[in-house]
Amino acid sequence: MPGLTTPTTPPAPIQVGQRRIVPIIEAVGPALPARATYPHLAPDQLTALLSVAGPTNTDPSGTYLHMASQGFAILGAGRVILVDTGLGGPKPARPHPRRGLDSRWMSTLELAGIGPADVDTVINTHLHHDHIGWNTTLTGTYLRPTFPNAQYLVTRPELEHATATTPPVHVADSVLPVQATGQLWPCALDHHVDEEVRLVPAPGHTPGHVLVEVASQGRRALLAGDLIHHPLQLRRPDISTALCIDPIQATATRRAVLDRYADTDTLLLPSHLPIGGYLRRDGDGYRLAPP
Ligand SMILES: [Zn+2]
Repeated sequence: MPGLTTPTTPPAPIQVGQRRIVPIIEAVGPALPARATYPHLAPDQLTALLSVAGPTNTDPSGTYLHMASQGFAILGAGRVILVDTGLGGPKPARPHPRRGLDSRWMSTLELAGIGPADVDTVINTHLHHDHIGWNTTLTGTYLRPTFPNAQYLVTRPELEHATATTPPVHVADSVLPVQATGQLWPCALDHHVDEEVRLVPAPGHTPGHVLVEVASQGRRALLAGDLIHHPLQLRRPDISTALCIDPIQATATRRAVLDRYADTDTLLLPSHLPIGGYLRRDGDGYRLAPP
């Protein structure tokens, strides 16, 4: 797979009323093979959709989807909230070398003026490996929570699904050590973090997948998790990825959320798009207008 790179110039923070949303980008670049990610699309349909999405979203050969791995910080009102923690640092139980497992996400966080002890809340939108990596850090031979003062929020259905059988290695190394210190807080799918930050249920990609809505002083943003993985799903909201555990439910959720937020002043910020935008209806689908 071609390389992912960490951008040298971080994206500008976004002001939403009294809250400031800081995108913390870990890496961008050709991440997932296009055909394997969208097996439900005929090859000619996929090629056409990728060409509409443009060269910033696909590599020139059309083989790989250009994607971002990112989390967000929500600052203001005396809070430091992180939403998703990327691919993460070294994890001894995983096969090595493995790309992305020694990323510069923490130094990007530091550049934004955020130290580990400052963080009061970590929200994991779901428990896939690319959203929980920096939940923990290797200290000597132990994995410990990276954010010592944080409450880590994971929805109950998500935690139950991830731990129903022997947990996969990324849950074992990035979630269980947080549970061991008592910092893991299973919560409802519609949990309110505070008066301006709330979870929005979005099951399908995973059973307990959530989005995070920030609404402050008349402004609104939606941190959209893995509602879409690529802009082609705005043109074709009916298309789920091979990564979605329940693709039919994922499509129903996608349609409902896109319908709810289209043509509003809500800024949509999906995890895997380097730049978000305002959702606009466009023919049978949608597009993102620049922020
Ligand atoms: Zn993801």
